[in-house]
Amino acid sequence: MNEKIYLSSPHMGGSEQDYVQEAFASNWIAPLGPNVSGFELAIESYLGEESHVAALSSGTAAIHLALILLGVGRGDEVICQSLTFSASANPIVYLGATPVFVDSESETWNISPHYLEEAIKSRTAKGKKPKAIVAVHLYGMPYKAEEIREIADKYGIPIVEDSAEALGSTYKERKCGTFGDISILSFNGNKIITTSGGGALVSRNPQHKSKAVFLATQARDEAPHYQHSHIGYNYRLSNVCAGIGRGQMEILDDHVALRRKMNQFYKGIFNPIDGIDVFSEPNPEFFSNHWLSCIIFNNPDNNINPDGLREALLSENIESRPIWKPMHLQPVFKDAPYYGDGTSESIFKNGLCLPSGSNLTEIERERIEKSILAYFNS
Ligand SMILES: *Cc1c(COP(=O)(O)O)cnc(C)c1O
Repeated sequence: MNEKIYLSSPHMGGSEQDYVQEAFASNWIAPLGPNVSGFELAIESYLGEESHVAALSSGTAAIHLALILLGVGRGDEVICQSLTFSASANPIVYLGATPVFVDSESETWNISPHYLEEAIKSRTAKGKKPKAIVAVHLYGMPYKAEEIREIADKYGIPIVEDSAEALGSTYKERKCGTFGDISILSFNGNKIITTSGGGALVSRNPQHKSKAVFLATQARDEAPHYQHSHIGYNYRLSNVCAGIGRGQMEILDDHVALRRKMNQFYKGIFNPIDGIDVFSEPNPEFFSNHWLSCIIFNNPDNNINPDGLREALLSENIESRPIWKPMHLQPVFKDAPYYGDGTSESIFKNGLCLPSGSNLTEIERERIEKSILAYFNS
């Protein structure tokens, strides 16, 4: 059996171990220290726009804290893009609030401006004005940032920008991670850069950072003894993991370029194949890091369909993955309100994510191409 080709696997640059070694040498084996502040600084200067960054234990923790900072609590409603990973929505439920799911538009696969506005109007008419909007840059593709911002401002509702998959992507040359009232990043093992596990909260407002750090370190009041006026969390990033992150920030742009090359590779394979589109930017204002390259089957049938290709690749020990199953179709969210026309459902049914790692070799690419062509020519 050939060695397994993964959908997306960690790709170290080389200097990660030096930073980790520093943490050991100085005995900063704790959820604070020079790597944590160094990593935060590196992200702040990368994003620009006067970003303030709090490094946390996960992207999910960052969404949880973002919602707390925006005042979400029991009985509130929060709008959330339906086509996403469950971690975008789960923290809404941690807080005793209800997610209201909104469908995607077909150009970026992200939150539809039309159904967003419809949801806001409908919930507000029911006396439940949404407390926040969770918008996601799926697979690295920026959402329609200007249109979504316009609607959010029109109704005075803050945006939590879920940029977990989109570090390195831009819209109108502005970096993803700078569009939200509060934004979040993830450094999980399969993301564009990794700290093995980790995340960050990003905001233009320095108070958001200081409050996030306060809540993430058990909400200790300033006192020599342990005094608490708030419920706290243990959500800070470890100084060892932050060392990996510092090394990863040095090669982020290279890895974006390599992921984009993978997208070109798939365009080369699929352009000659009728009925398959490689998911691409709608116009040059959008720049995706192409964290994962995805294809869409326009007319799947019994012979040629996403699941068939997935199984054919699997038999060659090549991992591919269905598109995220929309949240409004998930058993756990079956009672949550949903606004849309089925666009996300059709992307889920007809799409497939292909191996997209920045570390795939020429030989691995040849294996992938051969297996795909074999499936379409069989
Ligand atoms: C990975 C991911 C998250 C969660 O990040 P973790 O660091 O794994 O907690 C949230 N939203 C999206 C869209 C993701 O892909």
